Amino acid sequence: MAAQETVDHKYVYDFSEGNKDLKDLLGGKGANLAEMTNLGLPVPPGFTITTEACQAYLATGREPDGLAGQIEAHLESLERAMGKRLGDPQDPLLVSVRSGAKFSMPGMMETVLNVGLNDQSVVGLCAQAGQNDRFAWDSYRRLIQMFGKTVCEVPGEEFEHALDEIKNAKGTHNDLDLDADDLRGLVDAYKKIFLKHTGREFPQQPREQLDLAIRAVFESWNAERAVLYRRQERIPADLGTAVNVVTMVFGNLGPDSGTGVAFTRDPASGAQGIYGDYLANAQGEDVVAGIRNTVPLNELERLDKKSYDELLGYMARLEEHYKDLCDIEFTIERGKLWMLQTRVGKRTAAAAFVIAGQLVDEGLIDLDEALHRVNGAQLAQLMFPRFQLDHEFEAVAKGIGASPGAASGKVVFTSARAVELAAEGESVILVRRETNPDDLNGMIAAKGILTSRGGKTSHAAVVARGMGKTCVSGADEIEVNVPAKRFVVAGQTVNEGDVVSIDGTTGKVYLGEVPVMPSEVVQYFEGSLDAEHVDNALVRAVHRIMTHADGRRRLAVRTNADTGADAARARRFGAEGIGLCRTEHMFLGDRRELVERLILARDADERETALEALLPLQRADFVEIFREMDGLPVTVRLIDPPLHEFLPPLEQLAVNVAVAQERGEDVAKEEALLAAVRRMHEENPMLGLRGVRLGLVIPGLFAMQVRAIVEAAVECAQRGGDPKPEIMVPLVGAVQELETVRAEAEKIIEEVTREKAVEVLIGTMIEVPRAALTAGQIAEAAEFFSFGTNDLTQMGWGFSRDDVEGAFFWRYLELGIFGISPFESIDRDGVGRLVRIASEEGRAARPGLKLGVCGEHGGDPDSVHFFHEVGLDYVSCSPFRVPVARLEAGRAVVETGGSDSR
Ligand code: ADP
Ligand code: MG
Ligand code: MG
Repeated sequence: MAAQETVDHKYVYDFSEGNKDLKDLLGGKGANLAEMTNLGLPVPPGFTITTEACQAYLATGREPDGLAGQIEAHLESLERAMGKRLGDPQDPLLVSVRSGAKFSMPGMMETVLNVGLNDQSVVGLCAQAGQNDRFAWDSYRRLIQMFGKTVCEVPGEEFEHALDEIKNAKGTHNDLDLDADDLRGLVDAYKKIFLKHTGREFPQQPREQLDLAIRAVFESWNAERAVLYRRQERIPADLGTAVNVVTMVFGNLGPDSGTGVAFTRDPASGAQGIYGDYLANAQGEDVVAGIRNTVPLNELERLDKKSYDELLGYMARLEEHYKDLCDIEFTIERGKLWMLQTRVGKRTAAAAFVIAGQLVDEGLIDLDEALHRVNGAQLAQLMFPRFQLDHEFEAVAKGIGASPGAASGKVVFTSARAVELAAEGESVILVRRETNPDDLNGMIAAKGILTSRGGKTSHAAVVARGMGKTCVSGADEIEVNVPAKRFVVAGQTVNEGDVVSIDGTTGKVYLGEVPVMPSEVVQYFEGSLDAEHVDNALVRAVHRIMTHADGRRRLAVRTNADTGADAARARRFGAEGIGLCRTEHMFLGDRRELVERLILARDADERETALEALLPLQRADFVEIFREMDGLPVTVRLIDPPLHEFLPPLEQLAVNVAVAQERGEDVAKEEALLAAVRRMHEENPMLGLRGVRLGLVIPGLFAMQVRAIVEAAVECAQRGGDPKPEIMVPLVGAVQELETVRAEAEKIIEEVTREKAVEVLIGTMIEVPRAALTAGQIAEAAEFFSFGTNDLTQMGWGFSRDDVEGAFFWRYLELGIFGISPFESIDRDGVGRLVRIASEEGRAARPGLKLGVCGEHGGDPDSVHFFHEVGLDYVSCSPFRVPVARLEAGRAVVETGGSDSR
């Protein structure tokens, strides 16, 4: 056999070799640079090092075999194509080294520009740029700054500080006023800073610069802020980033050069048209960082019509190609336009709906696709309230509405303070000149973010939009003084702790707390805004997409409602019945006294008297609910919580008894209550005497409730209504429990419906693991199952929600044991499996068994998809979540290819 030959795994792709569907391998940036290259758009040549190379590096701590050689080969062919060599002293090829993961993580990871410059090539660059010294030295100082910060962890402020010093010495705030000599001096200062912090000279070897920068990009995947961002955005931790090596083009060559970002539609409102920011004579970083205030993109038409028209053409092309809103980074080098990045752009919730609707109108996508492109989380955001403005409130400043919503709170100036106050339960507004990735914790903690610099595409704006957090950026009338903890606006000083309100839609800033009003989308759902007639692009888009979702979905959506008022509201939101009507509240308020009598009853007579007094009260409650839900099913759950929850707390009773005794008052009743509370005390009330167990232990209790339900139904039916009662027994673990309750209930139903026939279903919650596992037996006695996923999660995992969420969930999330709290989104593998087993075995025993879910998961987008897949008949959730569940139930159908998964 011939000598062993190892074929290298392919780790490097030329832009011409990739395409937009290779995001896993090339990252989003690399895949889209390749796509644009192949579309014939002017992309500076370059290549992409794959995420696999990064994963290998992160796993072993060194570059995988073959990577160095492949980089060399691609660099050589790039040099040949450009006719220049990397860092050549006479005519240097310079490159950028850019991170780019599968999912965009704005500003999270690192990019180094101008790699290849050194003490010699800076002179060559200057000559090649037509003796443009200023440009060459500006580029070199940027390299040292970015390389120092990114690759060698030199504190960024040191460079900022040196730059500020030179500007101060010159008496200017604008870096454009610095000349070549100033910048050469700055390079010297930067090199000293570099030496001081790293113990070595700034590397002069171009190839060493390149290798170190690539390695730094790999490592930036695990930087603390990137880890934090991924957790917040639920991006898997093991994807790694790709690295793009791109020929440099220069926007800082003079007034005929510049750099900008653009959106093909307004990412805030979805309105059609070109949106973006442009900055003349600058390198890319300056726009994104919000360091100088940019001009709106349409100014470019005046500055450089040729490039502007060309850009518009490419944008139209990209939209048509991606069939979606795109965002773009570009640079103009002496009148020549270069495309540096594109991707399907992030957008606000409102824009997502509006744009999806527009794209349908434009024939680019169909309604299924439109439905796929919005989601329940966005819809939930649109249901937030907004500011109610009248003449009393005058804006003190107006910035850019960077991420919509209405937020009021105490002003803070640092991320740390934001976290501190938020932990104390305060609403805070984080105010910064501009934000950077180190502010991420504070942004998460804050209700809203206000910056004095930066456009719609600044760090603050992009990150806030991603989080669904209100943000006003670039409010430049505000003078922020972080060390003094205050800002000044319109002659007024606002100190840390003062309250401000910011409107992320209009960009306006108000002093004090502005009252809020309901959102238009909520008004539409409530029926006070008519989508067919109102001139509101958002309401029309929501209406259209919701209508489509309703047409597509298989799951019915019910609501959890305990009162007629809640039922009525939920019905307006589209609820198709009640999946959970709790009866606990019917034992509260002035009825407590009756419950106490029931608990303290010494014999059957006393107990029956108490129950008889409760009966008409409960009946009246049910009549109201059946009336509001006329024609739709109403699942009433028999009483569930332990009865001691209806008695005063032990300490309070003990004090009352002591005080009354002191005064010489009659304490017989208090003492009896106290004794009852002591007797009924439970170590684990969650696992104690509750649910069906109460019904079996306390004679007449369930019977009274069943009678109240059925009598109410008969009363409604006699008045011409169409009540559809379903009686639900909680906490069943064995079929025998249900059979016992059922036998008693059937007798009552039979007796009461003799007057007027009403169909009454009897079913059970499935919320004890044993019930799920014996569902086949239980189904013999149940006409329906409703999964109580809150309890099923508690008992499935063996932890009580109230105790554990604050105690250790953060650690579990940190360790990746949960990706998300199992109370927020159903744990598919464990608790979900119980649901699946119970559904299958229940239906096998009783075909046509009705299946639903009434835990909070019923309104969680991902869980709704799971319940669709499992084949439930309905989900039930709180009234406000009903539209979200309707939308997601529709999306679940289109995402499984329109098939009915049952
Ligand atoms: P981010 O992902 O944070 O946007 P990028 O890799 O896109 O980082 O780069 C940061 C900035 O540098 C952007 O404005 C980008 O347009 C600019 N830039 C990157 N590569 C080049 C290049 N080869 N020539 C000119 N500008 C570049
Ligand atoms: Mg970019
Ligand atoms: Mg329960």
